[in-house]
Amino acid sequence: MLRGKTAVVTGSTSGIGLAIAEALAAEGANLVLNSFTDSAEDRALADRIAATHGVGAIYCRADMARPEDCASLVAAAAAAFGPVQVLVNNAGVQHVARIEDFPPERWDAIIAINLSSAFHTIRAAVPGMREAGWGRIVNIASAHGLTASPFKAAYVAAKHGLLGLTKTVALELAETQITCNAICPGYVRTPLVEGQIADQMKAHDMGREEVIREVMLERQPTKQFVEASAIGAMTVFLCSDAAAQITGAPLSIDGGWTAL
Ligand code: NAD
Repeated sequence: MLRGKTAVVTGSTSGIGLAIAEALAAEGANLVLNSFTDSAEDRALADRIAATHGVGAIYCRADMARPEDCASLVAAAAAAFGPVQVLVNNAGVQHVARIEDFPPERWDAIIAINLSSAFHTIRAAVPGMREAGWGRIVNIASAHGLTASPFKAAYVAAKHGLLGLTKTVALELAETQITCNAICPGYVRTPLVEGQIADQMKAHDMGREEVIREVMLERQPTKQFVEASAIGAMTVFLCSDAAAQITGAPLSIDGGWTAL
């Protein structure tokens, strides 16, 4: 479905971003993987995706906290494979602290990485999408784009902001063949989350299932994690012709969290 199209996924060396990259590559897209690191493993990941799916794939180091890196990521992708037509803004970080203790530099970093980077990449990619006459922008928000939790001021503010950006871009591009949507996951099973389960088992002196139900998934009514591959599948659907009339939408995939 996406054979020959250029796809960029920010923050795609692990977790949800990597699952989205795999799903897009499986549809034939040429992939640009990204993180802020520059290691042999990062490049090996791109080689593996290329070999597995028979697509072009490169790794591009760019720090999503830096506006100039966001623009250069889009430029590097276009130079490698042609104009970016699928842009997934996934890079994100978290910090948990009471508002009065929240370090201002963590606030600035979270707003930069989780929100402003999407503005900078979209700004850089839209001219190429307009020229190509087709594009898909998918912003990975969160259930925290729709609801709040205490101690997550910057994350919740950034994800709410990302939904505002999504709607605005969708309206500006409504009469083109370019859509802009947001996916709002609940708790997703990622390597990071797996690590948290082990920590919480120790902290609460509980078994694995009890920690998952009572601590980790306290707010997720299904009491099941979302699988990262399901976010990949939802992204692929948003890239399909069937999704041509979905734009400006926050799409929840949260086991009922925001139905509460
Ligand atoms: P993760 O930590 O596994 O992956 C984050 C990725 O972003 C990594 O590849 C990391 O290297 C990259 N990254 C971090 N800072 C960066 C920077 N400055 N520049 C470039 N890349 C950077 O996290 P994840 O759980 O896969 O989360 C991915 C996205 O999904 C985030 O936006 C997160 O807010 C969102 N999300 C996650 C969950 C969940 O339960 N895991 C739920 C809702 C939303």
